Amino acid sequence: MEMITIEKAFEIVMGSAFSTGTENISFTGSAGRILAENVASDIDMPPFNKASVDGFACRKADIGSDLEIIETIPAGKWPEKSVSGMQCSRIMTGAALPAGADCVIMVEDTDLLSSGKIRYKGSFIKENFAVRGEDVKKGDIILKPGKLVRPQDIAVMATVGHTIVKVAKMPDVAVISSGSELVEPDRVPGISQIRNTNASQLMAQVARAGAAGNYYGIAGDDEEETFTLVARAISENDIVLVTGGVSMGDFDFVPSVLERAGVKILFSRVSVQPGKPTTFGIHSKAVVFGLPGNPVSAFIQFEMLVRPLIYRMMGHIWKPLTIQLPMKARFTRRFAERTALVPVFITDDGFVSTVEYHGSAHISSLSEADGIVTMPAGIKIIEKGETVSVRQI
Ligand code: AMP
Ligand code: MG
Repeated sequence: MEMITIEKAFEIVMGSAFSTGTENISFTGSAGRILAENVASDIDMPPFNKASVDGFACRKADIGSDLEIIETIPAGKWPEKSVSGMQCSRIMTGAALPAGADCVIMVEDTDLLSSGKIRYKGSFIKENFAVRGEDVKKGDIILKPGKLVRPQDIAVMATVGHTIVKVAKMPDVAVISSGSELVEPDRVPGISQIRNTNASQLMAQVARAGAAGNYYGIAGDDEEETFTLVARAISENDIVLVTGGVSMGDFDFVPSVLERAGVKILFSRVSVQPGKPTTFGIHSKAVVFGLPGNPVSAFIQFEMLVRPLIYRMMGHIWKPLTIQLPMKARFTRRFAERTALVPVFITDDGFVSTVEYHGSAHISSLSEADGIVTMPAGIKIIEKGETVSVRQI
């Protein structure tokens, strides 16, 4: 099968997205979920003309005169009296402006006279109240489908009483590790073994993307064992991630196992560094990724292909945050046949620096990295001072 570009791989993956449906949940638990309905306001906001300072509500025309205090209006109490000539009502922040008043003078700008009246001593007049409906009108749509819910959106839902919210169901994402050399992280590896880095990394990436991870364990390099796990994962999930076993080694069974499980492979080589053996296929029940075994490659290909797919399945067009900054130093590579995805960090003085990186098994390099910079095929050099686009990871 031919090697394709990372752009083409992205297109194929995104073209295979299907919807996982919707569900209604409490708004308090909706952070990180994708909205699947309009949220409209059931009220004007603010719901009444609302004092924005503590002070005295009065008529602008009267502020040159001493004003009689006719009422005190705490927040939460509706004014009983209307303010007329030479009068004012003591008012607290958040309380409703009384009829007749057209401004609130700040308490700091007044003197209380022995007569019990107040006198304005400020120099210029501000209204100091928010007009009913100036933020949002009743019926206005304030949140739209496809939005990734953040705490500030939960604040909006709270304000408009939208306590049950329709969100996209989280795709179920299976994680399977492949390799007879792997032991789980709580074990001490034998002399020919290594710890399973990828499964927990991928489970955390799945969770960060707002999906539900289901870990299926390690499949040894045995065709039957791998087939059994993969077939079960396909029947129980929307997306299946298998890491390892996709290279050209004698025990790399994953592509043949996928085909036997009924997966139609759409690509199995991507012209990208790291991540060349990335494999992708579709099944009537799920889509399946064969991710590289090297942890850095698995991480980066998840970010490039799986994370956008998870969001797309939930109806969200994800735009990874990118920051344009100059390179701290010249960066070169020897071979430029493939697109390179280079882990970088942002220095305290605002430059982009490459992390020390020994290859795609060097997982601690990613802990240093703030993002990745794309170097297109054919490009061998990024000059010192050249502006690059850092994609946050
Ligand atoms: P493979 O694609 O199976 O040939 O794996 C490529 C490299 O990644 C080998 O060095 C594997 O030992 C390593 N590898 C595979 N799976 C994992 C994993 N889950 N955690 C850490 N390293 C892995
Ligand atoms: Mg292997």
